[in-house]
Amino acid sequence: MVANLYFCPEKLMHKVPVIPLARPSLGEEEIAAVVSVLRSGLLSMGPWIEAFEESFAHMLGAKYAVAVSSGTAGLHLGLEALGIGPGDEVITSPFSFVASANSILYTSATPVFVDIEEVSLGLDPNLIPDAITDRTRAILPVHVFGQACNMRPIMGLAQRQGYVVVEDSCESIRALHHGRAAGTLGDCGVFGFYPNKQLATGEGGMITTNNESLYCLLRSLRNQGRGLDTQWLHHERLGYNYRLSELHAALGYVQTQRLPEILHKRSAIAGRYCELLADVNEIRLPSIMEGNTHSWFVYAVRVPENIRDALIEFLGAEGIQSKAYFSPCIHLQPYFRERYGYREGMFPVAERLSKEVLILPFYTDMTGEDVQKVVHTLKQGLWTLL
Ligand SMILES: *Cc1c(COP(=O)(O)O)cnc(C)c1O
Repeated sequence: MVANLYFCPEKLMHKVPVIPLARPSLGEEEIAAVVSVLRSGLLSMGPWIEAFEESFAHMLGAKYAVAVSSGTAGLHLGLEALGIGPGDEVITSPFSFVASANSILYTSATPVFVDIEEVSLGLDPNLIPDAITDRTRAILPVHVFGQACNMRPIMGLAQRQGYVVVEDSCESIRALHHGRAAGTLGDCGVFGFYPNKQLATGEGGMITTNNESLYCLLRSLRNQGRGLDTQWLHHERLGYNYRLSELHAALGYVQTQRLPEILHKRSAIAGRYCELLADVNEIRLPSIMEGNTHSWFVYAVRVPENIRDALIEFLGAEGIQSKAYFSPCIHLQPYFRERYGYREGMFPVAERLSKEVLILPFYTDMTGEDVQKVVHTLKQGLWTLL
């Protein structure tokens, strides 16, 4: 059977780390929900999508939520629905996963990078005014690693200038910023459910908004530009197939119900890491901005840049997976260098962080022993390398 070949443990053994970087938390409830979709035969556009959207919006305190096929698709739709297009400039962060900048390119607008600040690792509001031109139309802040960036000044500036704001909240589900959820502060917020995210559906995403007309437009755009209550082959505008399947939605619905438990466990694991690493002088622990609560996408420490990559190798040799995020920064990715002429030194804070940040294994069902083993091995690595 193909499935057995694929999961053949001997074949995979040498590739599977003893302690992986990330792993979704899936239980019997998730399995039962997906099986019930299979039994129903209704694989798309059924009741699970609505249940997932409703519970998601409610959980975040947003009026509306629109499920889409990925976080990247959500970012693209959000920008497009807000009218971003050719000739427009969108201010965003170079310290992110490439999807946040790519989504701007999909609309034929131009991403304009602004450096980050060191506490939240998000856009530095003080640097945004220097990046503004008469083509600026939008800001796409990225809430990285599990906490919101400094949104008050960013929203203040956007409102004064009449810019729209699409929040990339893919890494920061249920992170609070002065009591409100990241992704509910701008015109819309976008979430992603790739298996390494706090809430995982395999592939999938969600757009949240409080704006009813935007909500209707997003629903039409994700479904081939169909009208919301017109005939199936009636297309009012150029749309996409960015729908989420019922299988994914069922998984997402159960994960949404479990999110408080998931985030609670992640916060406890992060706390354990912080405790065990507190006395290691060479390591800088995650910082949390005033007014923020963390939703812990990853556990990211900073280590001396001259040993970061050697530490990753050292840990890897012990079966412990770790990673350099976001390295290189988006502006230094080959495509962006070639197309826009970006070079080293243009965004010094983001570039320094991309050389110092070390992402340690971190997942909802991680045991205390595994945390201890990672910390023990990390300390050994530091003694060996320093
Ligand atoms: C995960 C992620 C996305 C979306 O990724 P998809 O794989 O398309 O769901 C977008 N931005 C950031 C910062 C992310 O971490």
